[in-house]
Amino acid sequence: MPLGDTLFGGFGSDMAIDLGTANTLVSVKGQGIVINEPSVVAIENQQQQQRVLAVGTEAKEMLGRTPGSIVAMRPLKDGVIADFEVTEAMLRYFINKAAGGRRRMPWHSKPRVVVCVPSGVTSVEKRAVFEATITAGARQAFLIEEPMAAAIGADLPVESPTGSMVIDIGGGTTEVAVISLGGIVNATSIRIAGDAFDSAIVQYAKSHFNLAIGERTAEELKISIGSAAPLAEEVDVEVRGRDLLSGLPRTLRVESEDIRMALDDPISKMVQAVKDTLDETPPDLASDLMEYGVVLTGGGGLLRGLDERLRHDIGVPVHVSETALTNVVLGCAAVLESPEYLSQSYLQQQG
Ligand code: ADP
Ligand code: MG
Repeated sequence: MPLGDTLFGGFGSDMAIDLGTANTLVSVKGQGIVINEPSVVAIENQQQQQRVLAVGTEAKEMLGRTPGSIVAMRPLKDGVIADFEVTEAMLRYFINKAAGGRRRMPWHSKPRVVVCVPSGVTSVEKRAVFEATITAGARQAFLIEEPMAAAIGADLPVESPTGSMVIDIGGGTTEVAVISLGGIVNATSIRIAGDAFDSAIVQYAKSHFNLAIGERTAEELKISIGSAAPLAEEVDVEVRGRDLLSGLPRTLRVESEDIRMALDDPISKMVQAVKDTLDETPPDLASDLMEYGVVLTGGGGLLRGLDERLRHDIGVPVHVSETALTNVVLGCAAVLESPEYLSQSYLQQQG
């Protein structure tokens, strides 16, 4: 049994949760990351009654393919909680699954849970997350601001007086934050991230090729050949869609330059948000950043050439985190395991 468990009297299932707009990750103390699934819930509507049919991976399979009475939804899609009850159901499902399916736990063996929510979430919505976490079976719940969790997970020196900048590009939101002395100095959150990249590709296929493609195909194109700066070797792939003129299925070769062109508008807006955040940063911290650079994280941070584009447009050194997809949950887990972190002001607590 890991030492931590004996110290905490058997609260072996303390948990860290990254409630992301695209993916939810759960890490259990002593076990590491045990859940990494899409933040999707499939709901059946019957005579004004809602029933949760599936959550996570299984539910994502249903997105865009469901019959009339079933909807597959992403309750946090734009970084705000679209539906409290659905978010609560999702959170409860993931907590129970991570705890090994035990539904009723005696109080003393209930876990402590650190949850990270997108920073666009309002205080009313945060309260709802707290309540959902407690009713899902947590003894104590902590909420942490996303950029802070991402920075801790990426091993940035958050306590140091030298500023760090983290750019976390998720599905629904991009969070840009400057951190120094254990606090967020300034931050910007915009609703342009991975999903906006996908829609830009859908739009481009429509307007340039008269081809209708789905969001999932667009996401595949983005990940396989998308880029934010010229590639050493440009590539092409075949896409299948529906011809908008004939209404029939059509196959087409798409080049990486096309996808780059499609992504240019959302990427320019994102670069502008980073510039704006730098503009609002106190000059001494800003010069630290120009020297030591910024860290790109989140799934969207993995887009090819985005680091190069930021270096070129802003002139700061940029580093893509090797753990881009897991930094937030790693940061939450680090917080759980360190009593110093648990007393910090960027954590809110209930229970
Ligand atoms: P969130 O924290 O909002 O749940 P994630 O950090 O999990 O989001 O990132 C999800 C987004 O990252 C999706 O839009 C996905 O398409 C995108 N993504 C994942 N891997 C890559 C990649 N290799 N290149 C570009 N985008 C990626
Ligand atoms: Mg995230």
